[in-house]
Amino acid sequence: MRRWLRMAVWADCLSCLDSGNLMSRVRQPFDRLVTALARLPGIGRRSAERMATRLVLDGDGLLPEMVAALEGARSEVCCCSNCGALTARHTNPCRICSAEERANGILCVVEEPGDVLQMERSDAFNGRYHVLMGRVSASRGEAHTDLHIDKLLSRIAAENIAEVILATSTDVEGDATAVYVEECLRSSGVKVSRLAFGLPARSGIGYSDPVTLSRALRGRMPVEHMA
Ligand SMILES: [Zn+2]
Repeated sequence: MRRWLRMAVWADCLSCLDSGNLMSRVRQPFDRLVTALARLPGIGRRSAERMATRLVLDGDGLLPEMVAALEGARSEVCCCSNCGALTARHTNPCRICSAEERANGILCVVEEPGDVLQMERSDAFNGRYHVLMGRVSASRGEAHTDLHIDKLLSRIAAENIAEVILATSTDVEGDATAVYVEECLRSSGVKVSRLAFGLPARSGIGYSDPVTLSRALRGRMPVEHMA
């Protein structure tokens, strides 16, 4: 049966099995899978249902591959005990923390481990990283005890850090996180800066929102400094 037809039949089955034991036997493991997928960042309930449906329908091909990938990631990948970036379990501290050729004395602070990968792809930063493991969230109240601030303070002292670059997001929570971290570091005497905000690459002002334009204007630089 063609895949689009199988998916249509599956969707029809789910919608018509809204009562009885058969429905609950199908629904319970399916809902469990949807609920687990929906816990991932950026995945809403509807997207989780579509992903779960695809996984179930392509069970012979995609599911074993996903299971193997998840087990491999769980057994082989961890967060660096020093900076929090993703690393292989047998390379901990990570290669960035261990690299002698990278600049000492400057830390780039990011929200999530994946942000380190994104920064490294830019090939624009040669210092070290520190991952906060989250961001300031209004729903978590005033105490942000889950953010790795204490570790950051201890690293600033132990590694003789002179500058901290805050590379938090440009949304409200990212702004709040930057302000919160800056307040926490104020007494340390370290220089604290934040990534400049600019226009997206290969884009014009006609495609930029007012906040981005305002920040780009404040973060303007002399033309001779543009690489
Ligand atoms: Zn590290």
